Amino acid sequence: MMDRLPEWLRQPLPVRSSQEFSETLSEFGVNTVCREAACPNTSFCFSKRQLSFLILGRRCTRRCAFCDIALRPAEREPQDRFEPGRVAAAVSRLGIKYAVITSVTRDDLSDGGASVFAAAVKNLRESARGTRVELLIPDFGRSFAALDLVLEQKPEVIGHNIETVPALFGRVKPGSDLDFSLALLRRIKMREPGIRTKSSLMLGMGEKTLEVLEVLRMLKDNGCDMVTLGQYIAPPGAAFPVVEFVAPERFRALGDAAREIGFKAVFSGPLVRSSFMAETLFKEAGSA
Ligand code: SF4
Repeated sequence: MMDRLPEWLRQPLPVRSSQEFSETLSEFGVNTVCREAACPNTSFCFSKRQLSFLILGRRCTRRCAFCDIALRPAEREPQDRFEPGRVAAAVSRLGIKYAVITSVTRDDLSDGGASVFAAAVKNLRESARGTRVELLIPDFGRSFAALDLVLEQKPEVIGHNIETVPALFGRVKPGSDLDFSLALLRRIKMREPGIRTKSSLMLGMGEKTLEVLEVLRMLKDNGCDMVTLGQYIAPPGAAFPVVEFVAPERFRALGDAAREIGFKAVFSGPLVRSSFMAETLFKEAGSA
């Protein structure tokens, strides 16, 4: 296990402007993946009024090996039906023009939480007019019917993360299915070609360059418009170790390769996360 971060991954401590931003989020009782996953970009993104909301609670029903979000107990929990409204109110108050929303995985809900994603988009359309919406969705218990609830609301972007190469997928995302994830991206494009699709990979888990190129081609062949590549940083107690800190030059080379493969927009760098500078990436992608 590698424990000392290289210089290119060290970030300054949070600045005052981000503290002000945090206070507003606390007032509305909304969660962000920025905080829950202790993202290294929180200070930078908050200072630019960018964040990624985390809906459907703070505890997950799956145990992905790279993640430190707490595990949800097996019994069902009532859904917080006011959460989509609070997210929309926070977006409106903060004047956010590009809202990113993601969630924990909720295998305990019959639609995997798809109706809550749909409600979040609907609320934003009503109370934060002009705000664009990017969703980063789980696989909704591998249900296309659930996915279709979200498609009906036509967010500008839907992301679904593959996270790693096929050879490591089973260990990194036990409980998920790579073929279904690719089919999900394909279905979004087939049903709603105007929605831009997006996926992300973490590097530094022991993947080989040829495997990365292979999975990038798979994503492109399945209708993925945009891709991000970033360094995997293991949270405390993570089940999966960091195998390598990938040098910035290799990220640049893989980013170039992704553009050659045909993605409309690519971010590739050690600190890149799927929601990093999401509006900029969306604009770079242009029309779908
Ligand atoms: S990169 Fe994404 S998760 Fe990290 S702070 Fe920025 S918006 Fe939040």
